Amino acid sequence: AQKYVLTKYFQGEPKKTDFKIVEEELPELKDGEVLTEAEYLSVDPYMRAYMIAYKLPTDMIGGQVAKIIASRNKNYAVGKYLTGSFGWRTHTILNPDTANQAGLLPVTLLPDFGSHPVSLALGILGMPGNTAYFGLKEICQPKPGETIVITGAAGAVGSHVGQIGKILGCRVVGFAGTDEKCEYLEKELGFDRAFNYKTGDIRAALKEGCPQRVDCYFDNVGGEISSTIINYMNKYGRIGICGSISSYNESKLPKASILQPSMVLKELKMEGFVVNRWTDRWNEGIEANLKWLGEGKLKYKEKIYHGFDNMVDSLVGLLRGENTGKAVVKVK
Ligand code: NDP
Repeated sequence: AQKYVLTKYFQGEPKKTDFKIVEEELPELKDGEVLTEAEYLSVDPYMRAYMIAYKLPTDMIGGQVAKIIASRNKNYAVGKYLTGSFGWRTHTILNPDTANQAGLLPVTLLPDFGSHPVSLALGILGMPGNTAYFGLKEICQPKPGETIVITGAAGAVGSHVGQIGKILGCRVVGFAGTDEKCEYLEKELGFDRAFNYKTGDIRAALKEGCPQRVDCYFDNVGGEISSTIINYMNKYGRIGICGSISSYNESKLPKASILQPSMVLKELKMEGFVVNRWTDRWNEGIEANLKWLGEGKLKYKEKIYHGFDNMVDSLVGLLRGENTGKAVVKVK
């Protein structure tokens, strides 16, 4: 068994030399415990943002889909899959009945996904899927006919938010980092408009894409683009702050624009959230997304990296925008 231990705080992009891969001896299973083998590991932007909160050295955090390969718990048979925040490790021993449910991905036996791949438990049928579902519905509270703008729109969360927005009868406009991603959002996912934030003028794009201005802003990136969008909102608009990936690799934060005049004059509501706020409603999100997927109303893409040795490059690739949809690592 192997695991990644973070030994240095990230400076700029994560580097292989920030980690050590450690061999582990696995102890005998105790009553109630299972041994799992990782099949897919998740790479997510929060891994870049939050490691600063840990004392080093520390085991690297992260979600995974793992197969039960030995069991001393009758509720968890060999061959079934578990998902959970087990970290960057090949093997995990835990008692699923009493395991600490902390982390963004609660420990759960994989529900029946039908013919869908188990890797979706890290994406559209897992933590990012629930972030899109609860973040949009509970924080942005869109009404039919309203305009939703999404940044990071071609990623795991953003591409899903836009599709739920369409299901709910809204106008959906996204910003993403390449023309190919924008084309995918418009042609395949049904976004009304998508704009390349790297090459276009944001204010002009908003004018063109949002003739009724913006009622809901689902913010995945923060920074200047977010200020421009927020200043273009309608009265009583709602802003869900999901993340701020534009700053995750930066050691110095850019000077913030002043948002208060728009916030006051338009009586906007801005709320940050973390998806584990809805851990007790977790299955509601999974089931809704599974149903929409079955009805063909939700589509997904995965960027699959290969190999446990490739975790760091995969995380860097994600932060550089190599992915459309969810980035995952197939362990073997
Ligand atoms: P994505 O799949 O969206 O991958 C990250 C994407 O971010 C890249 O593909 C890239 O796309 C974009 N990006 C990278 N650098 C920048 C930049 N400087 N400015 C703008 N975009 C950039 O990741 P997720 O869907 O998993 O996460 C999206 C956001 O949601 C993140 O901020 C993440 O932290 C947050 N999140 C929050 C959760 C919560 O509970 N609050 C839970 C899960 C995620 P591009 O080519 O378009 O630049």
